[in-house]
Amino acid sequence: MKKHPLPARGLFLPLFLLTGMCFAFGSPVSAANWTVRAQPPKLVNGAPVLFQVKAPAKLQSLRATWLGHDVSFSYDAPTRTWFALAGVSLETPPGSYALELTGAKDAANLGSTSVSFSKKFAIVRGKYPRIEVKLNVESKFTEPSPEQQKQIQEGQEIKKDYLSRVTPEREWSGKFAEPAVAAISDVFGSQRIFNGKTSSPHLGLDFRVPSGTPVEAMNESTVLLARPLYFEGNFVVLDHGQGLLTLYLHLSEFKVKEGDHVKRGQVIGFSGGTGRATGPHLHVAVRWQGTYLDPAKLMQLPLP
Ligand SMILES: [Zn+2]
Repeated sequence: MKKHPLPARGLFLPLFLLTGMCFAFGSPVSAANWTVRAQPPKLVNGAPVLFQVKAPAKLQSLRATWLGHDVSFSYDAPTRTWFALAGVSLETPPGSYALELTGAKDAANLGSTSVSFSKKFAIVRGKYPRIEVKLNVESKFTEPSPEQQKQIQEGQEIKKDYLSRVTPEREWSGKFAEPAVAAISDVFGSQRIFNGKTSSPHLGLDFRVPSGTPVEAMNESTVLLARPLYFEGNFVVLDHGQGLLTLYLHLSEFKVKEGDHVKRGQVIGFSGGTGRATGPHLHVAVRWQGTYLDPAKLMQLPLP
């Protein structure tokens, strides 16, 4: 039997030095044991994303920063996986962006009390159809009177206050369901023209439903808003936690009130054509920490 003591010793020395360096600089020695995945794996602007993390140590909590937002993770004990829903705003340019994770160690762990890890994700430009919709909207929406401007101002203040609220605790669970069973009449991200004037991109998903169709909660949540606003008409906003809201516009009737707790599939109101609408339809929007995301992409996500 041949022996090769020299190559073995040669390997040992650099390995020892590398390990020593890790300790010297205090970097996480077990960094290789972090597993960080994004669902869907290809990130695009305007889309929600589910981050799934396996940490090298038992943690009490896990947080992250992502595109300037704070993200709180939930723990799934059976799979030992931390998860959080986040998003990429429509305005985010393509590029490489880091998810900066910080975990608070379990009390049973000795040594340092927190661990951190960073992983970069590539964001590519999403494909959104540029459909030009020529609509004739009543002039009170394009050239409002002073009284109407006051109502618009009030609506903007209510939205500014409520729509950026973040409840870190997760209330959603499992897939987001369709709010109505109907054909889609306009997709997220399309460009619209009102009375010849180009408006901002369509930031929701339109369902072609007649007035009086039951509208269902897309997931478990608390009712954040249920009141009439100038443009939105009868408007319901559900808070699903982790900074995620779903918005339901132009309703003819409310079936919930602010503060109510609702289950997925529960009827929250009936469709209509109140507010700025050319006719009865359901406009649904998804907001994550102040940015609009594509509701269709959220409903496609398989979620824990
Ligand atoms: Zn719409």
